[in-house]
Amino acid sequence: MILDKDILAGLIEGSPYPIYLILGDELRVALANAATLKAWGKDASVIGKPFLEALPEIDGQPFEALLRQVMATGEAYHAVNDRADLIIDGQLKTFYFTFSYQPVKNTDGRIIGVVCYATDVTQLVESAASINRMGLEAIENNARLAAINEALAATNEELATTNEELTESARLLELSEERFRNLIQQAPFAICVIRANDLVVSEVNDRYLELVGKARDTLDGKPIWDGVPEAAEAYSPIMEKVFQSGEAFVATEAELVLIRNGSPEQVFIDFVYEPVTDLLGSVSAVMVVGIDVSEKVRTRHAIEEVEERIRLAVEAAEIGTYELNYNTGELVGSARFDEIFGLGNGVNRETIIDHYHPDDAHLSVLAHEEAKKTGRIFYEARYIREGSPLKWLRFQAKVYFDAKGNRTRTLGTVMDVTVYKALQQQKDDFISIASHELKTPLTTLKASLQLLVRMRENPNTLLFPKVIDQASRSMDKITELVDDLLNVSKINQGHVGLKKSWFNLGDMLEKCCLHVRESGSHELVLEGDTSLMVFADEHRIDQVVVNLVNNAVKYAPDSKRIFLGIKASGESVKISVRDNGPGIPADKLPHLFDRYFRADEMGTQVSGLGLGLFICADIVQRHGGEIGVESEPGQGSNFFFTLPLDKNEV
Ligand code: ADP
Repeated sequence: MILDKDILAGLIEGSPYPIYLILGDELRVALANAATLKAWGKDASVIGKPFLEALPEIDGQPFEALLRQVMATGEAYHAVNDRADLIIDGQLKTFYFTFSYQPVKNTDGRIIGVVCYATDVTQLVESAASINRMGLEAIENNARLAAINEALAATNEELATTNEELTESARLLELSEERFRNLIQQAPFAICVIRANDLVVSEVNDRYLELVGKARDTLDGKPIWDGVPEAAEAYSPIMEKVFQSGEAFVATEAELVLIRNGSPEQVFIDFVYEPVTDLLGSVSAVMVVGIDVSEKVRTRHAIEEVEERIRLAVEAAEIGTYELNYNTGELVGSARFDEIFGLGNGVNRETIIDHYHPDDAHLSVLAHEEAKKTGRIFYEARYIREGSPLKWLRFQAKVYFDAKGNRTRTLGTVMDVTVYKALQQQKDDFISIASHELKTPLTTLKASLQLLVRMRENPNTLLFPKVIDQASRSMDKITELVDDLLNVSKINQGHVGLKKSWFNLGDMLEKCCLHVRESGSHELVLEGDTSLMVFADEHRIDQVVVNLVNNAVKYAPDSKRIFLGIKASGESVKISVRDNGPGIPADKLPHLFDRYFRADEMGTQVSGLGLGLFICADIVQRHGGEIGVESEPGQGSNFFFTLPLDKNEV
């Protein structure tokens, strides 16, 4: 049975599924049933219009291309649940269609269009989607649940681990406590931990025990101040304060006396009272960490003492110290250094050298050059500053070098040796005087002896006694000089002893100086209390008087009379030797009794060693008396000495 065209059209039109026919290259909508128009949201006016015109919103969606593809290939296209966005009631909506594009051929087999059979599956798709969504949610929820489960499991695991960890921590704690104990034991310091509540020692290492000199059982687990009672008075209040304030107490070189192994010892200790706080922040213990620094402190004290001694020595010797930097030329001197040069503070080397005696100006450079080899500097130079007497300065220094052997600096001392130089000069002069003094009688003695030798062949009885006398006088002179020299050396060595006895002063003075009396050059006049008895070394006192009389003879040759006086006054007796000679200038008087001093400007005119009065002064002072002189130029000289009389009653 062949169906009528209209019946066919009626079937198509009545189909609940959209059916439409597109024809030609322009894709004209040749036919669209009611279901199609409903699905498209359009009316019958779209029939006869090109596809894109009928459904302008379809532009850009894959349908046009799919239609052309089917027309070009002749192969049908099937789509399931394909999305199409269509404008329905003025609103762009999303729809889903399951459809087929099938090629339509004419009788000669040429493709002239495409027929589309479609089903609107929007609802289906949406339900599926919502089911899907629900499913997803369910899945998600499941996943979440799973995650929660996992998390729970993990938490359980964690709990287990935490438990394990706790056990481990406890073990570690034990371990760390052990380590802490070990640490304390092995620490290079003395450590002792004291509990706050009862001051009991909870931890103490051997070094601490050693430091306080106590056995373990007297400290460990015992109250600290029972263990070290000697430190309680000074340190228990301090420890108490640490407990209360929570602030550490630090002591350096604390000096205390510890009873170490039963005997007291003075020690110096560096230590800390370190508060140990518990979890709540309150001080639960004090950790004492200490180190015995006694050795260090004692060594330092010893060094300080040596330094102090050196400082005192430097001060006493009035030594100036200085440092010269070779690189910068900077010279830094002590206060005494500046004082010696008298050129103000911060004087430089060149200025100092400018003030040297011209003959000594080269000595500094020379000494520094020498020091390049020896590392030591030693020289003495004369220093002249206007308005001041010449000074002799002695420089002694040590030179320091760097690794390359270049001089870096000099540390040295400078000393004013003017007095020493003067004494040295005096000594040199004395030696030449002494030689000269000895030479005169020696020459005479030699001549006398030569004369005697010659006389042996042909004795001349007249000359003989004269020559013997001359030889004898020369011999006496030599003996006298040698005696003086011996006396001085005895005085220097402190070997002069006194042999005291009672004797009559008048008698002694009467008998002394026989040689003067016999020579007749001077008259000796004795005055005063001639019956006075004294307790002294008669020989030495005689030596003093002879010396004074000899001087009067020597230095007052024209004074015919020399007065010897005895005058008792109170507790002493004054013995004087007075002449009417030339007298002595006032400026010389204070030095007359010094060693080697000779007031006579003409020097060699009157012989002498400058020792006589020095020896006299020593003898008198040894007796507890005083020696002195009253003199004025042109008025003669009155030399006197006293002897204490209270000694006489001994
Ligand atoms: P020396 O006689 O050997 O020089 P002294 O010590 O005896 O040494 O005397 C020191 C100096 O005192 C003498 O050089 C002399 O100048 C001076 N002097 C001593 N006695 C007298 C005197 N009576 N009159 C003047 N000058 C004197």
